[in-house]
Amino acid sequence: MSTPLFPFDNRYAQLDGLSVPWQPATVPAPRWLRFNHALAEELGLDAARLASDEGLAVLAGNRVPEGAQPVAQAYAGHQFGGFSPQLGDGRALLLGEILDLQGQRRDIAFKGSGRTPFSRGGDGKAAVGPVLREYLISEAMQALGIPTTRTLAAIATGETISRERALPGAILTRVAASHIRVGSFQFFAARRDTERLRVLADHAIERHDRDLLGITERGDRYLALLDAVAARQAKLIALWMSVGFIHGVMNTDNMTISGETIDYGPCAFLEAYDPETVFSSIDSQGRYAFGNQPGIAQWNLARLAEALLPLIDEDSERAVVKATEVLERFPDRFSQHWLNLHRAKLGLRAGGADGADGEADRALANDLLRLMHEHRVDFTLGFRRLSAVLRGRPDELRALWGDDTAALGDWLVRWQARAQASGEPAAEIADHMDATNPVYIPRNHLVENALDAAVEAGDLKPFERLLAIVTDPYTERSADALAALPGTPEQTRGYRTFCGT
Ligand code: AMP
Ligand code: MG
Repeated sequence: MSTPLFPFDNRYAQLDGLSVPWQPATVPAPRWLRFNHALAEELGLDAARLASDEGLAVLAGNRVPEGAQPVAQAYAGHQFGGFSPQLGDGRALLLGEILDLQGQRRDIAFKGSGRTPFSRGGDGKAAVGPVLREYLISEAMQALGIPTTRTLAAIATGETISRERALPGAILTRVAASHIRVGSFQFFAARRDTERLRVLADHAIERHDRDLLGITERGDRYLALLDAVAARQAKLIALWMSVGFIHGVMNTDNMTISGETIDYGPCAFLEAYDPETVFSSIDSQGRYAFGNQPGIAQWNLARLAEALLPLIDEDSERAVVKATEVLERFPDRFSQHWLNLHRAKLGLRAGGADGADGEADRALANDLLRLMHEHRVDFTLGFRRLSAVLRGRPDELRALWGDDTAALGDWLVRWQARAQASGEPAAEIADHMDATNPVYIPRNHLVENALDAAVEAGDLKPFERLLAIVTDPYTERSADALAALPGTPEQTRGYRTFCGT
């Protein structure tokens, strides 16, 4: 066929020494698990052709499409605080880049396509369960308006891979604004390879921060790159915090320069509100607990800053002073986003800058969270059902709080006085809140059920149903009432997530 399946226009593969040319492994019996038609169309691709046998062969790694230049990307990273100078794409492969319908450059990459020079002891493969989890959660994040890598396809390979037990293998096709990570910079910084560090930084600027190209002083431009990444991450983490998302493995190799959420491993959503919540089986110290995420993001940005120092100023002390200034702004940046998002959740009109009003609104939000913590109230429903109070149905909210609703009652009085001070009709405020506070998030027990059915019985119906629910998160549907509820204590007690590597 003459037109290529993907109109590749590859840049990263051209950058000398940043990646290694490599080919995906072939697999015995590829079979569709899910194809993302809507995303294919958004990318300007021929969705029907991609969904055919030709697309299946390509997305399984059995046929390298015309124009692709598959490479494994080099990166390093701090994992749980300890530095590994060499990680890299051990089970991923960047096929190439395309321009989407908006003219945005997007990476098309595989996850689970076999060993690469970066695989170390690993097999380079992925299992059906974790691949479907990434599909589900990444598309749920997208529907919640949170920057994220996307999933174009999930394909069963027909292989059996060996983990704690034998599992069916799969390949995921990931679409990202780029796969440049904090750890990508750390890789070259650790080798004191300032030339490649600069090539990478220039590429990142061209890709994500073209407006910085106008800064003629190069050091200032790289400092501005750090600043831009910090700004995106402050917003991203505030968004995570606004929906109860716990990434679970915020290592520096899992933090993007683009500001997209990446690497859905042991991630999960909070149910009963508790900032110390940790689900990941490997996070025994609680380093990546829900409430630690802003601090960890800042710590990761400090690692990015360290890596960029030689580019920021040839005088290392001056470079440190400049980078530190940027890093120190992170808490305020995060706080401002957090405040704006929580104001929206509470139906409060943002009053401009974070002045006296801001402090009162922040206290209002924090007091609610403290009460939710004390009463183990479900984070998602605790916010969602506030609007029912404005609609004259306070019992829907009270039902979440058990018998002891006196403190809630006091808080509701304060909140309603503040919310209605604007003079906006209660029903309109309630409508805004319902467009902000989701009814449906990927509930942990439902995610597990859906993945179990797919893995153990080859039954994709629960997955399909849950995907449909979580990608339409704001409209309440009576048919999906059960999917809005947290798991029972038996279902949620001791819930653990795994990297699945
Ligand atoms: P992750 O924990 O998924 O972010 O991965 C951390 C590092 O381990 C990255 O360099 C991955 O490429 C590598 N890795 C994870 N799983 C595998 C695997 N099954 N085979 C080879 N490398 C892997
Ligand atoms: Mg990773």
